[in-house]
Amino acid sequence: MSKKIDPSRSIVYLTAAAVAVILLIFLYATNTDTGSRSSQKVRRESYRLGTIVRITLYGDDSEKLNKAVDLSMKEIGRLEDLLSVNIPSSDVSRLNRASGKYRVKVSEETGFLLERALEWSERTEGTFDPTIGKIVKLWGIGTESTAIPDPKQLKQAVQLTDFKKVSVVHEEGGTFVQTAKGQRIDLGGIAKGYVTDKVRALLINEGVSSALIDLGGNIAVLGSSPKSEKWKLGLQHPFRARGEYFGITEVTDVSVVTSGPYERYFESGGVRYHHIFDPLTGYPAQSDLASVTIIGTDSTDADALSTSLFVMGFERSISLLQELKNIEAVLVSKKPEGTIVYVTQGISDAFILKDHDMKKEPAVQ
Ligand code: ADP
Ligand code: MG
Repeated sequence: MSKKIDPSRSIVYLTAAAVAVILLIFLYATNTDTGSRSSQKVRRESYRLGTIVRITLYGDDSEKLNKAVDLSMKEIGRLEDLLSVNIPSSDVSRLNRASGKYRVKVSEETGFLLERALEWSERTEGTFDPTIGKIVKLWGIGTESTAIPDPKQLKQAVQLTDFKKVSVVHEEGGTFVQTAKGQRIDLGGIAKGYVTDKVRALLINEGVSSALIDLGGNIAVLGSSPKSEKWKLGLQHPFRARGEYFGITEVTDVSVVTSGPYERYFESGGVRYHHIFDPLTGYPAQSDLASVTIIGTDSTDADALSTSLFVMGFERSISLLQELKNIEAVLVSKKPEGTIVYVTQGISDAFILKDHDMKKEPAVQ
């Protein structure tokens, strides 16, 4: 069996098949160091949440920026300690050890995030499901024990994947979660978005007005870029080497999140198995989409949506996007007539296609 896994897999993973990817390239970096409107730039990088986390702040008060970046890193560590499936003392691990036996008191934040995840499960007809943990664990993509699971075990894991069996209650004594016997929670499809939102809120609170938060491809930009008004973010080309982009989005004050099958996978018998699963089959989702980018103000929503739209495929994604307000998307789909890039109307003018072998079309009329 040949394996092809991201070399950064030796780092601590947030989820069994967490990612360590940078899906977006920051074009702003090419022209920032001279003529910037901000005199100071503070950048911190670390392995957190199973990925490379990079925080870059701009402003004029370096003391303030350094304090804010330190607090951001601490905040990421604090949330990882709550949400990681691989940290035995985390809320998620405690929940997974108690499944079907007793309800677990969790932090209000964990309860809140789990509720958000369950809401998206409902909204996406179960294509997003935080109870997917058993399936994720069986495949072990991104870990040393990656293998095609035994079909019988996979079938059991599929039966356990059911968001409707999770209850979250808020009482005077705290927040309590109960899961069904054998269920395993995995917040890998939404946690980075949540952490991104928390860091953004922290930075605003610390008086930072220009920042780029990058949690392994889960991006949020705060304010304007240091050089020009808009931040220019390149979107990773799904069929080309890392760092090659197919288009650029020009944005301010939003989160940009991409999901795709090309970043974390292994190959066996000439077949590629990636890390976004169809809860109905337990297998990597057979999507007609090659990448999904969601652009919106809330990174938690964007993260859950990028994962679920990939599972849903093009047609279902389009009808869901039509219902959603203030959420924009760039979908790449391989069709017999070539590779098509579908762009929702709200972002169309702010998206520049760079791969001219691809064809840009409106996603929602
Ligand atoms: P990335 O983490 O690469 O940015 P995603 O946000 O799409 O990608 O999340 C993928 C992770 O989400 C997987 O590693 C796994 O932990 C979890 N996951 C996989 N399939 C699903 C699914 N259908 N619903 C919810 N979570 C999922
Ligand atoms: Mg996601």
